[in-house]
Amino acid sequence: MNCNEARQHWNLYHDSEGDVELHFRIEEHLANCPDCAEWFHSQSRLEEMLVQKLAARTPEPDLWNRVLVGSGLLKPARSRRWILFSGMAACAATIALLVVWNGGRAPGVVENDLADLTGSWHERLASGNEPLQFQSQSDLEVEDYLRHQVSFPVRCPPRKDAGFAVRGAGVCRLADQPAAYLAGHIDMTPVSIFVMPRDSLAAFFENAGAVPGQVTHRRTGSLETVLGVIDRNAVLVVGQTDPARLERVLRAYGTYPDHL
Ligand SMILES: [Zn+2]
Repeated sequence: MNCNEARQHWNLYHDSEGDVELHFRIEEHLANCPDCAEWFHSQSRLEEMLVQKLAARTPEPDLWNRVLVGSGLLKPARSRRWILFSGMAACAATIALLVVWNGGRAPGVVENDLADLTGSWHERLASGNEPLQFQSQSDLEVEDYLRHQVSFPVRCPPRKDAGFAVRGAGVCRLADQPAAYLAGHIDMTPVSIFVMPRDSLAAFFENAGAVPGQVTHRRTGSLETVLGVIDRNAVLVVGQTDPARLERVLRAYGTYPDHL
């Protein structure tokens, strides 16, 4: 027996199959051929590794089904179209669940909450934690100051119109959008007005659809927020008071033209 013949019969030898005569001749060759002895040894090691790997793997149900279908033991349960449809149905159910989970917001959208952002600014301004950039009790002085701070027109409702007594103003950013604020009081209650370009509302999912003339309220804890679109601006009035009083300030804001 030469090397070629010996290696050709490795399978029979390894599995202890074949006749006794064949095994005897292979053993005789391996005893005299170190190369084949080494080759047989490495083949056996490889075989063992494969057996271990296959034993460790859990069979895939889908693969198993395909084997059964292929063998004719199992009829294919679903056509391709049905699988696609059920896949779409499952997908739609997932989206519906996400919408409910997010309280009606589009899944995956990072939410900039305008009421939360303005509420947080209002509380810092009212508590004095955020110093007013410009202090004045004159609505005309405040308007003049802001005219040099932001590129969009900002008005300050005169006190006689809605009872809003201004004490100062400044600029801030709401979700990276430039905004101006007016801090003041209605009677003794701190109230803040935030003004930003109307286009900036696009950054706020819940308010992106706000239209001129439409006023929306939102209560967050004890804080009320009233939002309206006036000319080119979005205007928010925030305070811990009756939303009707805040809305009166908002309406007053819209009743006189820009001093530009
Ligand atoms: Zn050999």
